[in-house]
Formats: sequence, structure tokens, C-alpha cells
Amino acid sequence: MSTTIGVVTAYWCERAWLSSGVTDRVRVDADDAGLVTAVEVGVQPEPPDMRLAGVVLPGLANAHSHAFHRALRGRTQGGGGTFWTWREHMYEIAERLDPDSYRRLATAAYAEMALAGVTCVGEFHYVHHAPDGTRYDDPNAMGEALREAATAAGIRLTLIDTCYLTGGFGRPLSTVQRRFGDGDAGKWAERVAALEPGPTSRIGVAIHSVRAVPTEQIATVVAASSGRPLHVHLSEQRAENEECLAAYAATPTQVLHDHGVLGPATTAVHATHLTGDDIGLLGGAGVVTCFCPTTERDLADGIGPARALHDAGSSLALGSDQHAVVDMFEEARALEMHERLDTGQRGRFAPDELLSALTRAGHSSLGWPEAGRIEVGAPCDLVAVRLDTPRTAGVDPTQVVFAATNADVDTVVIGGRAVVQAGRHLLGDIGRLLSEAIDAIWSGR
Ligand SMILES: [Zn+2]
Repeated sequence: MSTTIGVVTAYWCERAWLSSGVTDRVRVDADDAGLVTAVEVGVQPEPPDMRLAGVVLPGLANAHSHAFHRALRGRTQGGGGTFWTWREHMYEIAERLDPDSYRRLATAAYAEMALAGVTCVGEFHYVHHAPDGTRYDDPNAMGEALREAATAAGIRLTLIDTCYLTGGFGRPLSTVQRRFGDGDAGKWAERVAALEPGPTSRIGVAIHSVRAVPTEQIATVVAASSGRPLHVHLSEQRAENEECLAAYAATPTQVLHDHGVLGPATTAVHATHLTGDDIGLLGGAGVVTCFCPTTERDLADGIGPARALHDAGSSLALGSDQHAVVDMFEEARALEMHERLDTGQRGRFAPDELLSALTRAGHSSLGWPEAGRIEVGAPCDLVAVRLDTPRTAGVDPTQVVFAATNADVDTVVIGGRAVVQAGRHLLGDIGRLLSEAIDAIWSGR
């Protein structure tokens, strides 16, 4: 059990992934603010240290989430279809949410993430208003529901409030999309200005996509970001590129470049169908690219040029996006495995590069640059991964990312507090929590 000596809580790790690599017998102290105050290596555990077996990683960042998509898992696989028919199912759920059901579903979805070792999530949030498009009494009621959910689940949140104005190039929002829109970017910015960061939450902004924000509105969103994380869905589907070329005679990346969107605080999500020039623009501007491989394969999007982007200067983050799978190890492995299938080469990314995407780069993308590392001054966010399960027994700890699954996460410490212990979340039975939240939405209760 976790114990406190004065204001210090101590965790002793059998092995931990430090900036110097996997290191044996590491003691991590945290103060009552949840920050790391000391990291000692080569030491023995002493009561009352909490012992963490296996290999301990820094907290994992899930850099791209739509919490409500969790209600679609295992419900969109019949009858084939395309990304666009999947989107019709997604709108069915979006239509049914209210602040209360959104909070319950997101609490369960974020608790599932905590069980998988996620200590910080970036929620790309656009279900802002009532179904008919009118504002709730609190215009940020839906965003605050997400913040309450993350607090209840014990994880950090970057609430990425998303500007979503049109239903496609030159098209108004459809009936079901009305609740996403604020009318124009000025009204969107005014609403977002009322959102303040909290002790475990920060605020970011997003341009939904070049489909959903007309070019003349983009500068307002960029100005409102004021150095905070600025995310954007980019070239997930070929159809978006074709329509963008028809509308603007430019690729989506070029449009973002021309309107001042690209920079080191920017994260491009998906970045699947890019030209060589697009890759140069993203890398040259130091844009983070967030791949969501389990979503991109589920939706038949394609395989994005991850290594080429990395080599051009873009750091890579990872997200579970629609949550067909919530397993960040699987996302990281898939980044490498999809590259292997695409190129016929192994070793496109080293294990440490994959772990960096899950930790440091993911947190930077979400505006927590001090997190994702086990160092003095960093938040005490730790993920203990067992090395004695049927999946992980015998693996080299430095290559654990190629073997572990979410089921191998034993203990998750967030801000010095153990949110998951022995594979069990503070909130109890998360399967039941998910079932109840999802059933209530589909049955209209
Ligand atoms: Zn998305």
C-alpha cells in the first residue's frame, strides 16, 4: 500500500525507464503536490515504500480522444461500408448525448484508459450545444462534463475545444451537426475564453478540419490558441484532399500553412495522405503528428508516412481516437508494424522511440511538457507493467512495448496517487460502468 512519510510518498521500482534507459532498483519520491522530489537508483526498498514490480514507465499520454465514440465499439462492424457510413453511426450517438450522459460515458471511458496506463488524455471536443444547436445555460456544460469525468477517473485532461462551423467545403452544418457549431469563429472564441485550466486540466483548441472551418475563420482560431495546444484533423481521407484541392487548389496541409496554423504548438492528427511537400511543411514547422493506428486501420483510412514525418522534423504522438481499442502499447506497436507492411523493412522505429511517442511527445502535444518523464520536478505519473504474465514473461524489459498489452498494466500512479492498483481502478468495476453508461445512451434512458 502507498504510505506517506510527512509529505513524501515513495515508490520503489524493480526497474524503471529513465532518460538513460531501463534502470534497476529505482526509488521515486513525490511531495504532496504530486511532483517528483527525488529519483535514486540502485537502492533497496525500505518500508513503507510502495513496491512496483515489472518495469515502470512514465505516465502514457493519449493525445487524441473522442470519449463518446467508445459507445460505438463492436457496433459498426456489420454490413461493411466506408469511413463515411461509420460516421453516420457516430452521429447517432452524438445526437443522444446530454451533459449528464456525456459525463457518465466519459468517466467510464477515461477509467478504461487509466486501467491501460493512460495518465493524460487529450479530448478533441466538439459536441458543444443542445441537439438543436442552442446553447445550454452554461455554454460550456458539455466541456465541464468532460472535465468532471476526468477528475472522477483520476486522470489529467487537456480539453481541446474544437471550432466546427461547416458540414463540408462551402456547406452548412447538417441537422445532426448543429450542436457542434458556434456560428462563427468569433463566437466560438468567446465561449472558449471562459474555460480556465484546473489543477489537473489544461485547455487547448482545435480546428476540426479544413472541411469544417472556412479559411477566412482560421486566423481567429489561431489567435485564440495563444501558445496553447492547437490540434487539427488532417488528411485522414483521400476525399478530403480531393475536395480541398477542388475548393482551394491546395492540399489541406498547404491551406493550414498559408493561414499560419503550422508551428511547434500544433498537432496534426492522422496526417495519412500527404504529398512530399506536405511532409516538408509539417516537419519544417516542427508540427507534432498524432497517429491513431488502431482507428486508421479500423476505418480503412490508410497508413500515414510516420517515419518520413519524423525524419523531416515532426515528433510523433499517439491517440486511441474512436476507442475501437484502448491499448497504447498496441497503438505504438501498430505504428511500427504498419510501417513494416508498407516498406518491407523491420526496425523503422526503435523501442525507445515508440515509448517517447507514448510519453514525452504525447504530453508535449497536450501542453504538459514537464510530464512523460521520471525526473525531479516532473509530475509523479508512473505505470508499472508486469513482466510475469503469459504475454510478458521472458521479454527483455527494454523491448516491453513490443509485448505488453493493457492487461499487463498493474499499477498506475497519477500525481503521486495510485489510481489503479493490482489492475483495479479506484472506481471499481469499470466494465460495469461502461455497460451502464453505453446501455443508457442506446436505450434512451
Ligand atoms: Zn478524431
